[in-house]
Amino acid sequence: MRFTASYIPTLKESPADAEVVSHKLLLRSGMVRRLTSGLYIYLPLGLKVLEKVSRIVREEMNAAGFQELLMPMVQPADLWKETGRWEHYGKELLRFVDRHAREYCLGPTHEEVITDLVRGEVRSYRQLPVRLYQIQTKFRDEIRPRFGLMRGREFVMKDAYSFDADTTGAETSYKLMYDAYCRVFKRLGLRFRPVEADTGSIGGNFSHEFMVLADTGEDTIAFCHNCDFAANVERAEVAWRGAACSETCPAVEQVATPGAHTVEEVTAFLGIGADRLIKTMLFRVDGNVVAVLVRGDREVNDIKLKNLLKAQAVELADAATVQELTKAPVGFAGPVGLGIPVYADHELQGGTDYVAGANAADAHVLHVDLRRDVAITAWADLRTITPADACPRCGGSVSLTRGIEVGHIFMLGLKYSEAMRAAFLDEQGKETLMIMGCYGIGVSRVMASAIEQNHDENGIVFPPPLSPFDCILLNLDARDATVSAQADALYQELRSQGMDVLYDDREERPGVKFKDADLLGIPMQLVLGGKSLARGIVECKDRRTGMKGELPLDGFAAAFAQWAAEVRQGWEERS
Ligand code: ATP
Ligand code: MG
Repeated sequence: MRFTASYIPTLKESPADAEVVSHKLLLRSGMVRRLTSGLYIYLPLGLKVLEKVSRIVREEMNAAGFQELLMPMVQPADLWKETGRWEHYGKELLRFVDRHAREYCLGPTHEEVITDLVRGEVRSYRQLPVRLYQIQTKFRDEIRPRFGLMRGREFVMKDAYSFDADTTGAETSYKLMYDAYCRVFKRLGLRFRPVEADTGSIGGNFSHEFMVLADTGEDTIAFCHNCDFAANVERAEVAWRGAACSETCPAVEQVATPGAHTVEEVTAFLGIGADRLIKTMLFRVDGNVVAVLVRGDREVNDIKLKNLLKAQAVELADAATVQELTKAPVGFAGPVGLGIPVYADHELQGGTDYVAGANAADAHVLHVDLRRDVAITAWADLRTITPADACPRCGGSVSLTRGIEVGHIFMLGLKYSEAMRAAFLDEQGKETLMIMGCYGIGVSRVMASAIEQNHDENGIVFPPPLSPFDCILLNLDARDATVSAQADALYQELRSQGMDVLYDDREERPGVKFKDADLLGIPMQLVLGGKSLARGIVECKDRRTGMKGELPLDGFAAAFAQWAAEVRQGWEERS
């Protein structure tokens, strides 16, 4: 492709509203443009990258025995009412009515539609398993669309679904997808990690997320240095291995703590460690308010709370609710005499003589013994894992790292087949529900996360499988007929080697061309100008390492092929 014949509107400056590096670079390199909040236009180069991701995904889905179909983006409300998600999915579901006043939504995911399809067609165990997928545009009315393609409202997803006759079959489908996902992300040249995950609004029995490792990721992953445990901190269990405390403590005593609301303020005021304090957080859980207790130096994990209470929605109680229930401003809630259900983290059993809020303004209570002074509704694992915790599997040491969720696979079990009566006749002629799995890859998010993981101060550093072109050829003297004739010849030679080449034939200053070449992140750069031509060489540069070399014009084909193999090899060894 000649640069002069292509639409690659690169920008010198980062647009001010772009916060993360992938967003900045996607805009600057002329790959995407923002239409409005959460909606993006893929320009020709961006579309090429998107299609490269799709192609690899498609190949691996096909290889795993899943077949492609395409479902509508618009979905009738009736199906969502059958599963109850019309009510529960919340505001991310964009709903509307047609001219006949029939209700619809834009599909954020397709469990309902595909289950409706399969229940209407499959009658016998002989027709199972059914394994299907699509690559399609999704819409989620995200509360905070941000970071460009990372969290759009409209985005491209590969979603796959499996229907099996029994658990063994369903586990086989799940494993097929797990392995296919590993191959996809490996082939894309990304550093990634599968982790145990929460099932969220999709639901089901268990799930794994696939995380691209990057410091800018929104997710935190806990992993063990000793065994293969790796989980999103949203769900990483915290094993409590301590013994219940048997000591007694003096009677509860209220003390004044004027103006001390936060853990830091209270512990400083009373001169105690944060592990001596009980943090009391009030949550609204499906309309009811409950209290959750963790040690002062810990964080409540609201997803664990949601799962424990099998709730649809969990959110922090607002200030008015806290004031009404505790008779005090926010910051003085405590479990003693609170009068609502109290859930306490396991770890608090290991101690007594705690400090807690007094449910009175500017006051705390000393000498709290949770077993003596509070009717605990349940002890449970309610806090977020920290690097100081032991691995819940083997007791080894745990570290945290950041990641971007690019894929998520779910063992759904009977959740949708039960609600929608997706049944078949088994070998004995008995009506049985199908066991489902669903499997998503954020195709457009993969594009952004590849850039988050692979860039430098000059621009994108595309892993070769994702790059819009294999190679960029710069003609530094586009006005010079001799140089241009030689550059044209190189362009033809590269193309005859099967290379997809961007040929920068613009009459621009060399500096502009070098900058754009680095910005676009194409793995291999070749540079020809009057000087190099006189010396009978072409300069080459590996975009990833910055390493430069010279290839002879005489015998160019073989020299280039060898260098290209080295560049690819370098990428493979990196991951
Ligand atoms: P998140 O927790 O990031 O909101 P999710 O858990 O809601 O994602 P899934 O329902 O598992 O996402 O969707 C499958 C995949 O689709 C995700 O792994 C992610 O890669 C992608 N995805 C989800 N939401 C978005 C979005 N708003 N923009 C781009 N990609 C997305
Ligand atoms: Mg998810």
